[in-house]
Amino acid sequence: PKYVYDFTEGNKDLKDLLGGKGANLAEMTNLGLPVPPGFTITTEACRHYLEHGGVPDGLVEEVAEHLGALERAMGKRLGQADDPLLVSVRSGAKFSMPGMMETVLNIGLNDESVQGLAKQSGNERFAWDSYRRLIQMFGKTVLGIDGDLFEEALDEVKGSREDTALGVEELRGLVETYKGIVREKTGREFPSEPREQMQLAIKAVFDSWNAERAILYRRQERIPADLGTAVNVCTMVFGNTGPDSGTGVAFTRDPGSGQQGIYGDYLQNAQGEDVVAGIRNTLPLQELERIDKRSYDELLSIMETLENHYRDLCDIEFTIERGKLWMLQTRVGKRTAAAAFRIACQLADQGLIDMDEAVTRVSGDQLAQLMFPRFASSAEKNQIAKGMNASPGAAVGKAVFDSARAQELAAAGEDVILVRRETNPDDLGGMIAARGVLTSRGGKTSHAAVVARGMGKTCVCGAEELDVSVKEKRFTAPGGVVVSEGDVISIDGTSGAVYLGEVPVEDSPVVRYFEGGLDPAEGDELVAAVHRIMTHADSRRRLAVRANADNPEDSARARRFGAQGIGLCRTEHMFLGDRRQLVEDLILAETPEERQRALDALEPLQKADFLGIFEAMDGLPVTVRLIDPPLHEFLPDMTDLAVRVALAGDGASEKDRRLLDAVRRLHEQNPMLGLRGVRLGLVIPGLFAMQVRAIAEAAAERRAAGGDPRPEIMIPLVGAVQELEAIREETERILREAGVEALVGTMIEVPRAALTAGQIAEAADFFSFGTNDLTQMTWGFSRDDVEAAFFSKYLDLGIFGVSPFETLDRDGVGRLVRIAVEEGRATRPDLKLGICGEHGGDPESIHFCHEAGLDYVSCSPFRIPVARLEAARAAV
Ligand code: ADP
Ligand code: MG
Ligand code: MG
Repeated sequence: PKYVYDFTEGNKDLKDLLGGKGANLAEMTNLGLPVPPGFTITTEACRHYLEHGGVPDGLVEEVAEHLGALERAMGKRLGQADDPLLVSVRSGAKFSMPGMMETVLNIGLNDESVQGLAKQSGNERFAWDSYRRLIQMFGKTVLGIDGDLFEEALDEVKGSREDTALGVEELRGLVETYKGIVREKTGREFPSEPREQMQLAIKAVFDSWNAERAILYRRQERIPADLGTAVNVCTMVFGNTGPDSGTGVAFTRDPGSGQQGIYGDYLQNAQGEDVVAGIRNTLPLQELERIDKRSYDELLSIMETLENHYRDLCDIEFTIERGKLWMLQTRVGKRTAAAAFRIACQLADQGLIDMDEAVTRVSGDQLAQLMFPRFASSAEKNQIAKGMNASPGAAVGKAVFDSARAQELAAAGEDVILVRRETNPDDLGGMIAARGVLTSRGGKTSHAAVVARGMGKTCVCGAEELDVSVKEKRFTAPGGVVVSEGDVISIDGTSGAVYLGEVPVEDSPVVRYFEGGLDPAEGDELVAAVHRIMTHADSRRRLAVRANADNPEDSARARRFGAQGIGLCRTEHMFLGDRRQLVEDLILAETPEERQRALDALEPLQKADFLGIFEAMDGLPVTVRLIDPPLHEFLPDMTDLAVRVALAGDGASEKDRRLLDAVRRLHEQNPMLGLRGVRLGLVIPGLFAMQVRAIAEAAAERRAAGGDPRPEIMIPLVGAVQELEAIREETERILREAGVEALVGTMIEVPRAALTAGQIAEAADFFSFGTNDLTQMTWGFSRDDVEAAFFSKYLDLGIFGVSPFETLDRDGVGRLVRIAVEEGRATRPDLKLGICGEHGGDPESIHFCHEAGLDYVSCSPFRIPVARLEAARAAV
């Protein structure tokens, strides 16, 4: 393969091969912009190098050829003693990894060529400044010497003066000192051979792909570990020749607000990273107009060219050498979420992009960011710890250390933050009740993090500086700060910060808009942009979006957020609280009559639940899932109960004894794979029938009241068509009796259901993919057990790049989904298809659902706008 591309050979679409920097340098070159000539070594060469521990055959020759061509074009040789060509060797991966990788400037200088450079430029100071920079950068990056050694040596000579004040003799002395450092630390001389310098620098750039900080950054940003970096060899231009030279960075518009204008910094008589390194105070870019009007005007015109060409905000690095402007880098610039929405609309207004493209210029993640409440930036804050930013948002409340207490206080109207070392499924009630969750253990895939994200609840996890004592109801933070139950804390799930006391919170205007409380025409530019993009998104998406909701309040909110129905109404919450008693009666029933009595008592309560939900979702489909979890979840904990009975001895109540028997009888080694879902319906006579009757009667009552209820009945955990047929028969009879029509369908969450979908579709009006269970059962691991146990190891090993519970695993689980879609539709072309697992609110998974041909996704109310947007992004 071809490993080296001249800047004139590449273009912006070759990022995979040339990296972002190389592809865009080529693009600018082809646009006729002033880019110093050079060439790019491909990421493929890097991958080969990393894999085999050496450069691929032919690379050295190919580089030599391109360097030769460059030398001929420039009329001088690399490091030529009397008039040296100098180059930079720059890293540049497909995705920008700011500051993570390496770059070496002024390659080609040595004791002879520094004299040549001095003579040619007539500027001795500049030549020696460039030479000392080379040794410094090369020493640190290529030779791996601690950079502080060079910094300290520089500081010693410089004192309190600025670096530009150093004279020729001082710089000359510094070069000697630097060479001494190299000698001492590596046991050899600084390599003076220009070609050797270049070779070593190229390898160092390859190696920097696997530097620790680069690995960390990639993991954080979910950049694949195996892409490798390209290497750009670029003719040097010099911003450090004197006051008529300099270097700067610029944005074509404000990356914070999206406003058009002149944004950037400029530094006179400086090279490379001096601007960002903050060694001297930079000037605002506007000042350049005064310093060098011609270059300034040219820069503005180039910025306009770039914006029009890329049709997006660009950021730029440039250098001015004695009044001549050079472009050194550009890319489509990062921006805040708010700016992304504004810019997309501004570009549409300018006619640079159409609304379809505007929709692709923003993301669901950005929209989600705009929806979280935030701490007022002006507020005073007392930070006591920092953990991982597990689930964004800003939460304030009293610290509470157990789930029951959290629920108690929340029920009394208090805001609480649930603080635990780590959470487990027993904490769910407390997590729901709390404004936010704080843990001292566990990472971004810990139970706390995953559950909190699913609920849209603020969460900081793994704040390891905190010593949490649940028993003593308090935690200790560094510096002896003690927070006891009832003390107020504030947690920022967007940054991971933990504050003592109350930090004031602001509501997000975007949520107020979705709630219907803010008119998009009322002047808030961000809200107007969000409104405009969402309106277009809704007109373009094929996927419908439904909500996972099981009470009237959530249903109503979901509807305001744009839900087109409920895709998953769980019924198990309806068996909790003071209804537990009735469930116990049901389980303890010894005769059919006793059992029926318990069911009869539950039915009106269920019916009331459904009435409220049907009313909130009037005219829209509501998919009710019949009870799914194993029954012991509704019974007391086995150990607690056994202790109670044992302590009471002969005095133990008859009821407790019977309960304990029942708990023992229902105990399962693997409840996830045990008596649950449709199996319950088949084993416990009357249970599903009671639920269906409650649904049917609620629907009939709503209809009689003039409403338009649209119930759909969903049977969980079906693996064989026979299971579904048995339940369906009974269900249809009850519906007929009540004079109510409803679709009857099933979840596809057991692999066997997906594999026999063609048969199952005979008895199902719809499928809803329950991808939480389907993921657990396909991988054979339980989410509650494995995330803390070994997921971080799996992520490290690259077995998956992101937890399959967060983003649907296309290759495995996704394949089952596709099989079920295809075979289900073959049996029943009008089969309705949806997804109701966590994945229904995950952007990447929504794109999969679109491609797989589903009809809708269902997600938590808070994620609905995100899903609407991502469904459109998948479609345009
Ligand atoms: P990064 O990706 O960290 O920005 P770069 O490869 O862009 O690293 O280089 C670091 C700095 O050196 C930048 O300020 C860049 O503009 C400057 N630079 C790189 N190559 C040259 C060159 N050939 N001439 C002058 N300055 C250069
Ligand atoms: Mg850098
Ligand atoms: Mg750069």
